[in-house]
Amino acid sequence: MPQSMAAQQNYTPKILVVDDEMRIREGCRDVLTQEGFEVASADSGKKGLDMIAREHFDIVLLDLMMPEISGLEVLPEVKSSHPDTVVIVITGYATIEHSIEAMKLGAFDFIPKPFSPEQLKVVVSKAIEHTRALQDIAKEKSRMRGLINRLSDGVMATDDHLRVVLANPAFMKMINHKGGAVIGHPAQSFIKVSKILNMIHEARSMPGDTFGELIDEIQLNGEGETEEMVLNAHSAPFRDRTGTTIGTITVLHDITALKKIDRLKSDFVSMVSHEIRSPMNSVLMQLKVIMDGLAGDVSEKQTEILDRASKKINSLVEMASELLDLAKIESGLITLEKETIQFNELLEDQRQFHLESAAAKHISINFEKASHLPLVSANRRNMEEVVSNLITNAIKYSQEGAAIDLAVSLENEYLCITVKDTGLGMSTEDLERIFDRFYRVKNAQTRFITGTGLGLPIVKKIVQAHQGTIQAESEPGQGSTFRVYIPHVTE
Ligand code: ADP
Repeated sequence: MPQSMAAQQNYTPKILVVDDEMRIREGCRDVLTQEGFEVASADSGKKGLDMIAREHFDIVLLDLMMPEISGLEVLPEVKSSHPDTVVIVITGYATIEHSIEAMKLGAFDFIPKPFSPEQLKVVVSKAIEHTRALQDIAKEKSRMRGLINRLSDGVMATDDHLRVVLANPAFMKMINHKGGAVIGHPAQSFIKVSKILNMIHEARSMPGDTFGELIDEIQLNGEGETEEMVLNAHSAPFRDRTGTTIGTITVLHDITALKKIDRLKSDFVSMVSHEIRSPMNSVLMQLKVIMDGLAGDVSEKQTEILDRASKKINSLVEMASELLDLAKIESGLITLEKETIQFNELLEDQRQFHLESAAAKHISINFEKASHLPLVSANRRNMEEVVSNLITNAIKYSQEGAAIDLAVSLENEYLCITVKDTGLGMSTEDLERIFDRFYRVKNAQTRFITGTGLGLPIVKKIVQAHQGTIQAESEPGQGSTFRVYIPHVTE
């Protein structure tokens, strides 16, 4: 036996039939009651309105042609007091234009008289589907709202005119908005943090074919009643199916505590490295005194052991120095005394400097100067450190007879410095981690190559402090390419 329409729902929908013709009222009642609905009826527009005022009906079957109050007068009343009620108008043949008018007033469908029980069932089942979809959407919406309101991250969405369509309490707290409701208001009317506003504007005007998000760290300095805070802000456009931007979404994540811990850690690391360096240097000196025979005769075996010990201590001193460098860069103490740099010269100097160590492994270093290269305003020592680190790595992680190519080129507002080698290369998993502190690739080929795992993190920090970026490409056995992008001075 086929299931009745109401049994397919997990509630009993209520239907009201408003018609002055008894035959229609009774007919509808019989058919729909059999289908498991709760059916009420009214024989006039007035009675119908009274019943609607008293209770909610899921569906109203409404005759348009009734004496006194017509269906067209009842319809707007229903729609304004019960917007979720689905209205199906019952029309005579002669009243097609009325049914069109009724649709304009918000009727869901119409059914012309006379109609068969089957026709009635089809329209009602369509209406039920519709109410169910509406209820699902409403449920989903309230679930989403509940979820977003409970998030500890701040979330705000706007339409394409940057008017707010959603903003959760965490967002309001982070931007320190204590005023009234903001839904429907332009974002700039209540967001006072210019960096956040700029991000939203930028996300809104991102070209339709780019799928990026903007990420920035925002420091709120506690002025104008905002709390002192560090926020990680993400802003992105959201688009409809045709790719047209229909709004923006911004998420703020409070990273104040993380930043504090990070600073404590940097301070600690820099203190320890500093304190460790001098005693280690003095141990080195003392070892040298013994090795030089100034404290008495030393056997060949003893010299060998002391030599190994010195090498180990040397690499510890190196690590302590690199940790100090990193801590300095992180604390913002990096010497950003900038000067204008001609990269053709800097790269050629670096090539010359590394030729000897490369030659020891029969590695060639090639560089062809670029023509029309603009000058770059940067810290010379830092830039030398970046290039030197990359060339040193290229030599270290290449087998005998490999080749290193240096290049510099202009890419829009950036100068691109490339260091390419034909060395060991590395896997994608390793490539993703080489800029992490202390990360070193561990395999049979790299086992005997010494290092601290701090070179690339230092390079990355320096590049970032110069508003640049660094990218790496690599394939095991094929070699690696590192590209550094530094903004150049625009006249
Ligand atoms: P270190 O060289 O002291 O170990 P780095 O931070 O400079 O530290 O490099 C991290 C790791 O990345 C290295 O241990 C090495 O495995 C890998 N690496 C860096 N440069 C290259 C390169 N040019 N070719 C292959 N592997 C590289």
